[in-house]
Amino acid sequence: MLNLEKSAAAFAEAKTLMPGGVNSPVRSYANVDCNPPFIARAEGDKIYDIDGNEYIDYVGSWGPMVVGHAHPNVVKALQEAVTRGTSYGAPTVIESELAKLVMSVYPSIETIRMVNSGTEATMSALRLARGYTGREKIIKFIGCYHGHSDSLLVNAGSGMATFGVPSSPGVTKGTAQDTITVPYNDAAAITEVMDKLGDEVAAIIVEPVAGNMGCVLPKQGYLRTLRDLTAKHGALLIFDEVMCGFRASLGGAQAAYGITPDITCLGKIIGGGLPVAAYGGRRDIMQKVSPAGPVYQAGTLSGNPLAMTAGLETLKIITKEPEAGEADYSRSLTLKTKKLLLGWQAKAKEAGVTIQAHQAGSMFGIFFNEHEVYDYEDSCRSDQESFKIWFKCMLEQGIYLAPSQFETLFMSGAHSEEDIDRTIAAAAKAFQAVADSRC
Ligand SMILES: *Cc1c(COP(=O)(O)O)cnc(C)c1O
Repeated sequence: MLNLEKSAAAFAEAKTLMPGGVNSPVRSYANVDCNPPFIARAEGDKIYDIDGNEYIDYVGSWGPMVVGHAHPNVVKALQEAVTRGTSYGAPTVIESELAKLVMSVYPSIETIRMVNSGTEATMSALRLARGYTGREKIIKFIGCYHGHSDSLLVNAGSGMATFGVPSSPGVTKGTAQDTITVPYNDAAAITEVMDKLGDEVAAIIVEPVAGNMGCVLPKQGYLRTLRDLTAKHGALLIFDEVMCGFRASLGGAQAAYGITPDITCLGKIIGGGLPVAAYGGRRDIMQKVSPAGPVYQAGTLSGNPLAMTAGLETLKIITKEPEAGEADYSRSLTLKTKKLLLGWQAKAKEAGVTIQAHQAGSMFGIFFNEHEVYDYEDSCRSDQESFKIWFKCMLEQGIYLAPSQFETLFMSGAHSEEDIDRTIAAAAKAFQAVADSRC
């Protein structure tokens, strides 16, 4: 039995200090009815709690830790950088270095602006799209998450193509009304909405590989449909690649699927574990951002030298040209992920449990679901009880997974073949526990 005594005490205290004891909701483990381990440190693919338990980590801080925790190159660069001061609020050369490296991998980004969180990136991209087009409506897809800014915390109203309603108290009806929500992966639905309202729409924002309703891949041709519809109606296409950037492939979903968006949002990996995100795209659009243009957006700590350093070192590792005979970084992540998922699928089958296993590069996840999962409704029909049993059994065996079926898991360069084998062996037990619970 996992001993989490110290974590439980720390959580009890934290609950007296912070709402729900955490600074971001999913960390509270509310979905799995147990206390979260409090983390003391992490190194490579391992994370350690204050009770002294060691886990193989597939959360990776929800995506950023693609080269593993405390990578020596990142640590060394940060140690050197911190002696030069932690923030200047003035231009630095390292901002341009990170910009150039990102743009070399994302040719659709001709001009970029660094911000501090994915939320800021998407919020600013929408303001820009509205400023550029002079239109007010935006379209988002049900189950896609783009951070917590007001206009994106919106649910579908009743009936097709109605305007959105707030999904959180505190979001005004007025704000929600300008956001139209449509089911993901449904080409007919988005075509109908665009035919009706396309000329009022500033932008369609989409996770081109969805990672916040579990890992859900776009259907064949779906992203092309979004590209064609936005072009036809003079709306902008915003790819929120905060999660799938550098993961679906090195060049993100846009490279993997061959679709060029007008604006791309990046985050998570580009900060290498420090708070960085960015939005960028076509030069004529980005030139509307202040001070080049009239669309206001700013940040005291944007382009922070420590954050830029962590991002730059991380991207240098994953973009490095492989030596002869060496596998390319993203490709090796993809292969390891595939091995893990094939292992999980085999163990699930042996236990007689049906799962849907999804992978996009180094993003992956499973659903306890008899049917294919293409959108949020499908995802919601997955078996939550089985997930809880599976999750807890994996945690007991030292495998640290996201505590919700609506989250995605991540592979890093630090995951060893041996740890992947251990994770597959643990899954055999966990799927058996699920099977036993059903009889
Ligand atoms: C994580 C995430 C965000 C929000 O980023 P924060 O840094 O948490 O604000 C936005 N979009 C997507 C697709 C994400 O996965």
